[in-house]
Amino acid sequence: MKKIVILGAGYAGMICAVNLQKRHMPFTLINKHSYHYFTTILHEPAGGRNDFDDYSVDITYLLDSPTSTFSKEEVVEIRPHDNKVVSKSGEILYDLLVVALGNAPEYFGIAGLAENSLLLRSLESAKTIRKHIEDQIKLYKEDHNPAHLKIVVGGAGLTGIELCGELSEWIPQLRSNYHILEEVDIINLEAAPMILPMLDAALQEQARDVLTKKGVQLRTSEKIVRVNPGEVELASGEKVEASTIIWTGGVRANPLVAAAGFTCDPRGRAKVNEYFQAEGFDNVFVLGDSACLLGADGKPYPPTAQLAQQMGEHCAKNITGLVLSDHPLKPFVFHYMGTLASLGSEVGVGNVKGIKTRGVPANLLKEASKAKYLFNLGGFRLLADKRGQFTR
Ligand code: NAD
Repeated sequence: MKKIVILGAGYAGMICAVNLQKRHMPFTLINKHSYHYFTTILHEPAGGRNDFDDYSVDITYLLDSPTSTFSKEEVVEIRPHDNKVVSKSGEILYDLLVVALGNAPEYFGIAGLAENSLLLRSLESAKTIRKHIEDQIKLYKEDHNPAHLKIVVGGAGLTGIELCGELSEWIPQLRSNYHILEEVDIINLEAAPMILPMLDAALQEQARDVLTKKGVQLRTSEKIVRVNPGEVELASGEKVEASTIIWTGGVRANPLVAAAGFTCDPRGRAKVNEYFQAEGFDNVFVLGDSACLLGADGKPYPPTAQLAQQMGEHCAKNITGLVLSDHPLKPFVFHYMGTLASLGSEVGVGNVKGIKTRGVPANLLKEASKAKYLFNLGGFRLLADKRGQFTR
């Protein structure tokens, strides 16, 4: 039997793993944490909603068959010419490799940004943001420095906008808990002239209306060009002081992908064919945010969770067919389901299969998509165990 190794337990790697497990295909999954977390909804606990435990699941809870092996290790190098992966604790040989190592922040070379901003990209970073914001409120009680009451979120893509929606609900609670009468500014700075560029103009306007009414300051056409400790500099020359600066300005591939020598696009994503094979390496499948997969229009698909999940499932089917019956690989066809953005815990905006939705229905659809993911991953058992996600 061929040795199958999956690197990374994000959306792509985890869905690939559970689908191989369903087909009784032996594999080894390697991940640096012992748990899988739900990246696209981390704005909820980061912004004060629910318990952190509701946003991750132990990998061994999901992989419970004797044909599945999980190894908690950090990969440091991929050597595709030697069919070998190097981790902090040794070397692992493979016949077939699935690279699903996710993304890294894109800083666009902006001076001081990496050093002076927080990120929302992992369970730990979500905890850091929540604690940091609460700490600023406590500090304000002591020193009355107004910078503690200013939160800057850089970028108005899904991550930035959904986080602002959460903060707009949590901050009033925090102010009340700590008896702060002064306003806390939530300032979103976006370089482009619009927010949520993946939605059409009418939906963007609806999202803007909702968030503005909730007190979020949405400042578009404001490019961040430099970040100093506690201060953001804009292209206009204006400086915005804030004790909390969160960067949600974009992602690139995990740097291990380019370091492995795969042919990559400018965002460090390995160029792959319709079977996800990396150029020149038929036994290496690159999935999710680490892959540059072209759509029918010749442009790379943007890195989304739904693409990662569909790639993971398709890859598992292809690998099973290849290993068990030497079936030719089937080309991948992406089924775009739509995009939904939550704007706090009650309302949202987006489109589903081409139909526009907003307000409470959009939020309910978003909640349904969260439930569907949990079900696909771990059936009713996981859905029941993570029901805390749906409490507010
Ligand atoms: P993004 O690339 O989608 O958006 C980043 C935004 O930051 C852009 O609008 C960009 O114009 C802006 N920006 C870049 N440089 C800037 C600067 N110097 N100053 C001010 N603004 C600047 O990034 P994201 O929101 O982090 O999302 C990353 C990926 O993850 C996307 O593909 C997204 O679809 C996906 N995601 C999905 C979900 C979901 O499914 N609900 C949630 C979060 C993220």
